[in-house]
Amino acid sequence: MQDQYQRQIEYLRISVTDRCNLRCQYCMPPEGIQWIPHESILSFEEILRLMRISTQFGFRRFRITGGEPLVRKGILEFLKEAAQISGVEDLMLTTNGILLPEMAFDLKKAGVKRVNISLDTLDAERFREITRGGDVRKVIQGVFRSLEAGLAPVKINVVVVRSSNFQELPQFLELARNYPLHIRFIELMPIGTSSERRDDFVPIAEMKDVLGLKEDMATRAIPGGGPAEYYQPEGFKGSIGFISAISRHFCSTCNRVRLTADGKLRPCLHSSHEIDLCAALRSGQSDEEIADCFASAVWQKPAQHHMQDEAWNDVRMMSQIGG
Ligand code: SAM
Ligand code: SF4
Repeated sequence: MQDQYQRQIEYLRISVTDRCNLRCQYCMPPEGIQWIPHESILSFEEILRLMRISTQFGFRRFRITGGEPLVRKGILEFLKEAAQISGVEDLMLTTNGILLPEMAFDLKKAGVKRVNISLDTLDAERFREITRGGDVRKVIQGVFRSLEAGLAPVKINVVVVRSSNFQELPQFLELARNYPLHIRFIELMPIGTSSERRDDFVPIAEMKDVLGLKEDMATRAIPGGGPAEYYQPEGFKGSIGFISAISRHFCSTCNRVRLTADGKLRPCLHSSHEIDLCAALRSGQSDEEIADCFASAVWQKPAQHHMQDEAWNDVRMMSQIGG
C-alpha cells in the first residue's frame, strides 16, 4: 500500500522476541534489559494472523528478527506456516548466527529464503568483547552452513565502531573477494546503549575511503538489495554494501514498517510513535477492523527520521524494535 508520501510500503519486519543469547555492547546493557512479560509477547498465531491481514493490502516481504529470533521456542514451525501464507513472496531472517550451525538446513526446509547474519569481527577475542561472551567460531560456521543450505544471498551485517572493529574493514573486503558473501557495513545508530557513543560513529564516506571504493564503482545488482549501496569489484565472488542511516539517510525510499514483539506497529525505526495491534487483536476486533488500524499506521509513516540531530529519548532498545 501507499503512504501519504507516495512510498510503496510492502515490507514488514517482525520481531518475535526481545530476548537474546548475546549482549552486544552497542545494542544492550551487560545485565540485559527488563524483558517484556511473556503474556505481552504476541503468540505465533497472532503474528500469523497479522501477516495474513497485511498481505491483503500489499505486504509481500517479511523479515523475522528479534532479539534473537532463533532462541524463541517453536520458531521453525512458525516459519513453516508463515512461508505458506498466500501472498508471502519473501520470508527472510536476521540473526546473530550462533544457532545457525544446527539450524540452517531446517530454516531452508521451513521456507526461509535468505538470512542476514550479524558478524562485526572475525577475531575471536574482539567478538567475545563486542558480544560480551559470544563464540565467533559458531557464527562463522553458521555462515558457511547457510551457504551450503542455499539461504542465498547470504548477507553479513557489520556495524562499524571506531574504537572496536574499524581497522578490520579490509579483512571483510577479502571475505567478499573469496566467497559469495554480501558484506554490508552499517553506520552505528545513536539508539539505546549507543546513544552516547557519538565518537564511535564512522561515516560511510570514511569507510569507502579506507577501502579505496569510489562512488562511480557502485552497482545495485544484488537481489533484494534494500537501502544498501553495493560494490562488486572485478573478480569478487561476493560484494560490499553500505547502509547509511545517518550520513545519507534513505527515508525517501523507505518501504518498511516494524512490528515489535509485544505487538506494536512502528511506522519508523526512530520515532516512538506506535500503534497497538496487540490490543486490537486481543479485544476481539475483526480482520477488517485490524486491517483499518494497520493501514492508518502505514499512512502515518513520517517523511523522514531526525536521528542525526535529535537525542534518543525512546524507552525501547534496538533489541526491542528488531533493528
Ligand atoms: N539478534 C539479531 C542480530 O543481531 O542480527 C537480530 C536483531 S538485531 C537488533 C538487528 C540488527 O541491528 C543487527 O544487525 C545489529 O547489528 C543491528 N544493531 C543493533 N544496534 C545497533 C546500532 N546502535 N546501530 C546500528 N545497528 C545496530
Ligand atoms: Fe542480541 Fe542482535 Fe542485539 Fe546483539 S545486536 S544483543 S545479537 S539483538
